[in-house]
Amino acid sequence: MKNDNLKIIDGSTIAVIGGGPAGSAAAIKLIKEAGGKGIKIKVIIFEGKDFDRHYNQCVGVLSYPIREIFERNLDMRFPEHLIKREISGYVLHPSDNSTLELSGERGTYATRRILFDRFMLAAAQELGADVIRSRVTDTEFNGSGIVKVYTEDGFLKADAVVGAFGLDDGIAGVMEHASRHAFAYKRPPKVLDTLVAKAHIDLNMMQEIFGSRIHAFIPLELKKIEFGAITPKGDHIIINIAGRNLTSVDMDNFLGYPPVRGLIKGLNLAGLDYYKGKYPIRPAGGIIGDRFAAVGDATGLIRPYKGKGINVALETGAKAAEIMINNGISASALSAYPQAFDHLRADFFYGRLFRLLVILSIKTGFVERVMAMAQSDPYLRDVLFKVVSGEGTYHDIVHEIFSMKEFAALGYNFFRHLPLAVFKAKPYADR
Ligand SMILES: Cc1cc2nc3c(=O)[nH]c(=O)nc-3n(C[C@H](O)[C@H](O)[C@H](O)COP(=O)(O)OP(=O)(O)OC[C@H]3O[C@@H](n4cnc5c(N)ncnc54)[C@H](O)[C@@H]3O)c2cc1C
Repeated sequence: MKNDNLKIIDGSTIAVIGGGPAGSAAAIKLIKEAGGKGIKIKVIIFEGKDFDRHYNQCVGVLSYPIREIFERNLDMRFPEHLIKREISGYVLHPSDNSTLELSGERGTYATRRILFDRFMLAAAQELGADVIRSRVTDTEFNGSGIVKVYTEDGFLKADAVVGAFGLDDGIAGVMEHASRHAFAYKRPPKVLDTLVAKAHIDLNMMQEIFGSRIHAFIPLELKKIEFGAITPKGDHIIINIAGRNLTSVDMDNFLGYPPVRGLIKGLNLAGLDYYKGKYPIRPAGGIIGDRFAAVGDATGLIRPYKGKGINVALETGAKAAEIMINNGISASALSAYPQAFDHLRADFFYGRLFRLLVILSIKTGFVERVMAMAQSDPYLRDVLFKVVSGEGTYHDIVHEIFSMKEFAALGYNFFRHLPLAVFKAKPYADR
């Protein structure tokens, strides 16, 4: 049965599961958008963490165009006071002995993630959202009826639910189960493991070695690590790695990897804590249903290598809220929401193709030639900058590479090495 008449009206209650950037953005936009139409609603955010003590796994880089997202999507001023460092560029380390500097980053800032999450949640609360510090343990959707939300503290009846629970396995499983009966959260996103370490650093050393550049690594010898990075913050650096089935031994190995060791050799690494997390690499199978929209990481709409997860969280949270208020909360009314992100979904094919090309290029050592060419070729440097900074789509990047006049020579060399690459490469299979 179609429920095309489901609408948010005076007195409606919307439960937001998760108070990260996506959940807070959704709550802010729900309240603003409803207020603009004179509709009185109740927004309740359930958040299991206490952001005074726990924080969400993240390096904390707010990427361009974060300012515009705040102003355009949320009608809010960008929180300048949270900036710890402005990022000016990147240093790529594709192998042990080659580096490539890419400058020209703009409007990208390092922040402390815990402060950012606190700021966003407080902004939602100031507008009138209720925050309940409790985990949601189950939900019941039965088509046209009210949704029941079970928490560690009790029970709530809601007219609609925003799924902003990130990559939390527990609740994703619950939603997947609930979707069998009523809606379409058929499959949580596929993920890579991540490990993060934070090391304090003397300010002179910070300036001398890192300045305001992010160092990015693709350490071929460390087979389980797909990529790693070191990001300068206020008075510390964040070291992060991503790959499949990572353990603390992989982080130990990364810290000992010569190009990384070279950068951090003056640091006291004794007693360094590691934090584990996940990174989506393939979208969830369905993100809307009657009275339901998933937002942020729960949608898995993040592009490989590009990050910008916070941007996507804010954009999807705000868009889902806008559509809920203006179009309604039936699956068909909400279909305009995923359509607004078709460009991200469409780019997944190119993102996966690009990821495979990168892995094969590294396995063959072909990447060294690309880096050497990029030293003197501004066009190629520009393409690589777009890859690392996350500007533009993979579709455009792949086409820019194919339209390079040197592409014929590059392509010839690449394909000459391909059989060996396929033999050596066991691409990091997605889970
Ligand atoms: C190692 C690492 C580094 C990253 N670095 C960056 C970066 O520098 N820049 C960037 O833009 N992105 C980065 N990302 C991605 C970014 O962290 C995410 O894309 C972003 O946090 C997504 O926001 P979200 O609100 O969807 O999910 P989350 O931030 O994960 O928030 C989900 C919230 O839901 C809560 N929750 C979950 N289940 C329940 C439940 N059952 N009941 C109640 N609450 C629940 C959780 O406690 C959590 O607070 C990084 C990710 C990783 C893993």
